[in-house]
This record gives sequence, C-alpha cells and structure tokens, in this order.
Amino acid sequence: MAGAHESLESMYPFVLSEDQEHLRREIRNFAAQEIAPSVARWDEASEFPLDAVKKLGAMGLLGIIFPPEYGGAGLGYVDYVLAIEELSAVDGSIGIIVAAHNSLGTNHIFLCGNEEQKKKYVPKLATGEWLGAWALTEPGSGSDAGGARTTAVKSGDRYVLNGSKTFITNGHYADVAVVIAVTDKSKGTHGLSAFLVEKGTKGFRAGKKENKLGLRASDTSELIFEDCEIPAENLLGTEGEGFIDSMRVLDGGRISIAALSLGIGRGALDAALKYVKERRQFGKAIAEFQGIQWKLADMATELDAARLLTQRAAVLKDAGRKVTRESSMAKLFASEVAVKICGEAVQLFGGYGFIKDYPAEKYYRDVKLCTIGEGTSEIQRMVIAREILRVHPSRG
Ligand SMILES: Cc1cc2nc3c(=O)[nH]c(=O)nc-3n(C[C@H](O)[C@H](O)[C@H](O)COP(=O)(O)OP(=O)(O)OC[C@H]3O[C@@H](n4cnc5c(N)ncnc54)[C@H](O)[C@@H]3O)c2cc1C
Repeated sequence: MAGAHESLESMYPFVLSEDQEHLRREIRNFAAQEIAPSVARWDEASEFPLDAVKKLGAMGLLGIIFPPEYGGAGLGYVDYVLAIEELSAVDGSIGIIVAAHNSLGTNHIFLCGNEEQKKKYVPKLATGEWLGAWALTEPGSGSDAGGARTTAVKSGDRYVLNGSKTFITNGHYADVAVVIAVTDKSKGTHGLSAFLVEKGTKGFRAGKKENKLGLRASDTSELIFEDCEIPAENLLGTEGEGFIDSMRVLDGGRISIAALSLGIGRGALDAALKYVKERRQFGKAIAEFQGIQWKLADMATELDAARLLTQRAAVLKDAGRKVTRESSMAKLFASEVAVKICGEAVQLFGGYGFIKDYPAEKYYRDVKLCTIGEGTSEIQRMVIAREILRVHPSRG
C-alpha cells in the first residue's frame, strides 16, 4: 500500500481539505486491513463480502451522500468519488456494491420519495442496517431502458407487479429494491413508474445469480415478480415519471462508475509501478527501459485526466448543477482509459500478468464492467452528443 499512497499523492488534482485527507486515510487503512487480505478468496469463490459491507455501513460509507438528518454522513460527491476510488483500488466489487447502494437505490428514494418514504427507508439504508438495489434493466431492455416490460397494475389500494429484471447489483442481499415498471404502455417512457419493493414481499424473489468475468464478489442477479402485490403508497415519485427520474438518478450514478474506473485503473497502475522496479531483464530493472517508461507516463497522464473530469462532474453536482453531460463525459473517458490502463498493466507484468497469483489479471477482468454498467460507452456518446447538440442547435 505504500506504493499506492505515493503515486496517489503526486497525481491527485486538487488540494484536499483536512477532512477529506482524513476520510481518505481512514478508507485506505480499512481497505488494507479488512478488504485486501480477502480479495482473492472472495473473487475465486464469487463470495459476497457481507461482513465488510456491514463495517462500511458502520463507517458511514453506505450513506455518504445523504444528510445527517436521514442517517447519512452529510458529505458530497467529491468525497463520494474519493471513497469509491479508494475502495475500488483494492477491490472493484466493494466499489460497485457501495455505488449501487448509494447513488442508485438509496438516492432514487432520497430524490423522489415523499417525506414519509424518505424517513422510513433512507436512515436504514444510509446507516447500513439495510442494503439497497436499483432495478431498471430487463432481459429485453438494457440500453433501451424505456422499453421495459415489467408491469405494475393498480388494483384498489395495491399495485400488482409482474415481470423480471436482470443484472441487478445487490439483488440477493438488498432489503429494498427500487423497481421501474410500466404503468401505462400507451405513454412510452412517460408510462413508467418507480416502486419500492421490500425483500420478503409475496411474489417477489431474487433469481439467477450471474457467474461473472469480473467484480465477482459483487452480487448481480435476476429479480422476479409474480403477481407481487405492494401497497399503493410504495409508488416512488409521480406515476409516469419513473423513467425520467431514473435518468436523473443516473446522472449521479455515472459519477460513481467513473470513480470505480479511477480506482481500478489506479490499483493496476500502482501494481505495475511496483512490479517494473522489481522485475529484472537484460541485467536491469525493466523500469529502466524507455519503452516501459513511456507506457507508465501515458497511463498516469490518462488516469489524471480522467480524475479531473470525474471531479469536475462531482464539484458541479455538489453545487446543485445539472450534470448530464459532465457525468457522461467522466464515465465514458474514465472507463475507457481504465480499461486501457489495466490492459497495459497486464502487458507490463508479462506472463505473470496472466497468472492469478499476481494482481494485474483481476484488475483487467474487473474493469471491463465500467464501459458497460449504467449505460455503455456507446450510450454515453449518445447522451453527450444530444447534450452538446442541444447547446449548439442548427441555425438552418
Ligand atoms: C455487473 C453488472 C451490474 C449491473 N448492475 C445493474 C443494476 O444494479 N441495475 C440495473 O438496472 N442494471 C444493471 N446492469 C445492467 C447494465 O446497465 C446493462 O447491462 C447495460 O446498460 C447494457 O444493457 P444490455 O446489457 O442489455 O446491452 P444492450 O443494450 O443489448 O447493448 C448491446 C450492445 O449494443 C450497443 N448499443 C445498444 N444500443 C445502441 C445504439 N443506439 N447505438 C449504438 N450502440 C448501441 C451497446 O452499447 C452494446 O455494445 C448491470 C450490468 C452488469 C454487467
């Protein structure tokens, strides 16, 4: 971890406040003591790190972006990015568990819930007593999330849900899931609504747990709804606004995937920096070859650029600005750069980069999710193009 510390200090783009330095140190120590020793085992066995997640709750990291009156740590997205980067530099699985819980599930309730819903759910989630999930994707609708087919039909004072969601982070472990379902098919994306569905509700269960390429300690599961009845008061936000609200939630969520990318990329770069100083070929450390140095220089520069974009989005989000464009740019760039960095790290490790006893291969597997989850790179480009064309409309 000493290497990680040195490289991060020199690359961080802002002067951090004392509180932020403290937060970072605290998370770094926790990650070194409580996460690092078990990472390989969790990955190999695809084991959900429940104890570590509970401890993160006790540290306030499961409610980092929520105000203290709702049980949160009262911090902002700048701190959130710091936290996700630190955790993900050691284990991306922990990073995505915390990200899906904070900026997707809990944040949807915080942003769109009425006071009663916020008081009922946010404190439990923010303190880590409960874990949250956010369910938009379906087998037939991923990038085209507005094409969801799960239905919610109003029947008296209840809604009845039928259908299934796929690839849901924390699916088996979540105590409550925010679920997007069709309430009026004729209205397209204005006919989707969000609902709160608690674990144990009759007709609701987690299905297949995916066996994944990377982030294997995180839980990615199917959610199944079979005549699942929920009280009408579990409608979250206004009926018909669920898709629009989801896009707002993703504006913040994408910052967390950028931070996940930064963390995994940084972990790979730090491991590579350490290795090239130790590994000797042709009578010297491979770090002495210019071909190796140029790779490292590019990796560090690209990671820094990604961090700047990510922190810009976080600063603007904390200032209450709409960050659709900035969060998509950060997510697109950080994830693509991180994939490249992790590939270069494997290359720098040579044959040992291909072997599970060395750290590079896990970063390489874990990082790929970053160009896919919360909107693929292609979808980010669509969002960015739409946003910049809106600002510069055709004058013809
Ligand atoms: C580990 C993991 C965790 C996840 N967690 C969650 C979660 O917690 N909650 C949740 O709701 N979802 C979650 N997802 C789902 C994720 O957001 C989707 O997988 C993603 O949005 C892509 O959807 P898809 O898999 O259906 O791919 P598709 O939409 O089928 O895309 C296939 C390919 O086509 C491309 N493509 C699609 N449309 C266009 C277009 N118009 N132009 C150009 N290219 C296009 C895509 O970019 C992609 O390359 C998770 C996924 C994974 C793998």
